[in-house]
Amino acid sequence: MLALRTTLNYLLPRHCHLCGDVCKESVCAACARDFLHINPCRCPICGIELNLIDARNICGQCLKKTPYFDQTIVATDYLPPADELVHRLKFGHQLSIASMMADLLRDAVIERYAGELPSLLAPVPLGPSRLRERGFNQAQEITRVLAPQLGIDLAPRLLLRLRDTLPQSSLPFQQRQANTRNVFVCNLELLPRIDGQHIALVDDVMTTGTTLNEIAKVLKRHGARQVSNFVFARTPRHA
Ligand SMILES: [Zn+2]
Ligand SMILES: [Zn+2]
Repeated sequence: MLALRTTLNYLLPRHCHLCGDVCKESVCAACARDFLHINPCRCPICGIELNLIDARNICGQCLKKTPYFDQTIVATDYLPPADELVHRLKFGHQLSIASMMADLLRDAVIERYAGELPSLLAPVPLGPSRLRERGFNQAQEITRVLAPQLGIDLAPRLLLRLRDTLPQSSLPFQQRQANTRNVFVCNLELLPRIDGQHIALVDDVMTTGTTLNEIAKVLKRHGARQVSNFVFARTPRHA
């Protein structure tokens, strides 16, 4: 069913998901420019929007407790209309939106990323029953398009999520860490690709960063030299 729907997506004329105009992409260039290219000053570590008063350009939270990941690149904020697009991808199965997200993420990486690119891109895995229910992992769909565009190897099975967790957004902040603790493991066959390497994690949304931090911790424990996050939309802290 999913394959048929994907094929139909290519055959039918496409309309911009935001303004409805016929266009080749899932969001037309004008809408992407007007609504999605939010380019504020961001914390280089966690990607949160910064006030100019933040010292040394690192947010207070990262200064207080340095995360395991080293940097975060985000394409846009998780606000309308980006939240609507994430919803349509996840729950409306509109997979063409994943390639639009990958395009915007590629532009953000090219524009903002200083330093050596990662050697491997890994999608944040879904739990077994959520994957069965949805039929696809939205993070993997984004990574599949993004990896060749950046010329980076894709490792779809680098990480495993051992059990389903409650959506982080449904939990109070204090319970989020417990919700994701000991949930992620690395694929043992791929350990040589982690040791001493720079890995980037890809996801559609970053809320508090607890999940990404938990995965970065596991990767660092297995010797990763550097961990970056490439995320389509970041939830603003005071939204
Ligand atoms: Zn449009
Ligand atoms: Zn930060």
